Amino acid sequence: MTDAAKIVTRFAPSPTGFLHIGGARTALFNWAFARHHGGTFLLRVEDTDRARSTQEAIDAILDGMSWLGLDADEAPLFQHQNAARHVEIAERLLNEGKAYKCTCTPAEVEAMRETARAAGKPPRYDGTCRDQNRDGAPFVVRFKAPQSGETVIDDAVQGRVSTDSAQFDDLVLLRSDGSPTYMLSVVVDDHDMGVTHIIRGDDHLTNAARQAQIYAALDWQVPQFAHIPLIHGADGAKLSKRHGALGVEAYRDMGYLPEAMRNYLARLGWSHGDDEIFSTAQLVAWFGLEAIGKSPARFDTEKLDNVNAQHLSMADDAALVAETIAQNAALAGFEAQLTAAMPLLKSRATRLPDLAADAAFLAATRPIGVDEKLQKHLNDETRPHLAALVEKLETLEDWQREPIEALIKGYMDENELKMGKLAPAFRAALVGSSQSPGIFDVFALLGKNEALSRLNDKINR
Ligand code: GLU
Repeated sequence: MTDAAKIVTRFAPSPTGFLHIGGARTALFNWAFARHHGGTFLLRVEDTDRARSTQEAIDAILDGMSWLGLDADEAPLFQHQNAARHVEIAERLLNEGKAYKCTCTPAEVEAMRETARAAGKPPRYDGTCRDQNRDGAPFVVRFKAPQSGETVIDDAVQGRVSTDSAQFDDLVLLRSDGSPTYMLSVVVDDHDMGVTHIIRGDDHLTNAARQAQIYAALDWQVPQFAHIPLIHGADGAKLSKRHGALGVEAYRDMGYLPEAMRNYLARLGWSHGDDEIFSTAQLVAWFGLEAIGKSPARFDTEKLDNVNAQHLSMADDAALVAETIAQNAALAGFEAQLTAAMPLLKSRATRLPDLAADAAFLAATRPIGVDEKLQKHLNDETRPHLAALVEKLETLEDWQREPIEALIKGYMDENELKMGKLAPAFRAALVGSSQSPGIFDVFALLGKNEALSRLNDKINR
């Protein structure tokens, strides 16, 4: 742990949509980095685009972060509330001759862009007002970007990224209505919040160069940038709805655990040796920018399922029992059996709803309903065997999986029966469907009285 008190990171979402997988990963990396260094993690809602920012999106982001356990150290900051400060800094740049008023009309600027395009150059403002300091209304305030030399960013992931400064035109800092632009607001807020490390998607790399120029003009220390490659879909293309472009609440609703999501998201671009499954405490202990990869990670639902299954198998039984009852109220009176069954249920489950589905047989009321497909296994051939077995099982004192299995297998050997013959009949009588743990576990979990009663129900039609 180095520079403990000094490290400040932030997650700065624009509240125009849900907290999707990419945003959640960015938030996680900033959170883990701050926690690793004993630093501070802040949340800034970039709501300057008032038309596109919605309360619904703000709520979705806050809910998503709280579900993922990514707690910020201070109340969220809303960027639009800092507008006066952003304007103040633009005026400072104006006064210092590092920005200028531009009275070119939008049509004129568009014409300049068109000319550049026609000459095969990137569309840009041509600097007409740069040295004139023209007064007049309406005007925008433009940044006097350096016209020569290199703009260099020392990025913790991308390395040294150098751009020919001549490539950048003079960007607008204040619009004609006096409102600050995104590029200005980001720099001022990051500076004022004391942000030391900016970890975000590499779609912001070009912005970073422009922002570095503004930092330099203000004589402010440029934060350490770390631009992480964007996440690709399983097919290598952009993330699709099927592959990760959903909001994190959709993953919560599908029954993924927050600790599994943190584990999985961490592995989208970051690694610690060959470790695939780790706790959040381990993530915090291990996390560092040096282990973020340069190539895009792929979102893979199968892998997420696998990570979730492993975290489920390690999760606290009591918490899973409560969750299972929340998912299926019919199980409310079966807490003791659920608790006994949980080690087995969670070892078989991929997502939370699997627990309730696998446990549903416990709460079935007698006589239990039987799926049509299974009904045929309760027939004149199987019923006498079930009856004979009920008699034997009644004498069994130790109602545990192993002795039950031994007794039933012994009977089948004596009668030269195959398990495939009787197992579906047991399943029909005890479960009524194909969804449950293995049949000997079902016997044990139901308890002697209930198991034998269910069998008797189907023997004595
Ligand atoms: N608000 C920006 C976004 O949601 C992020 C800006 C930043 O991290 O600097 O893409």
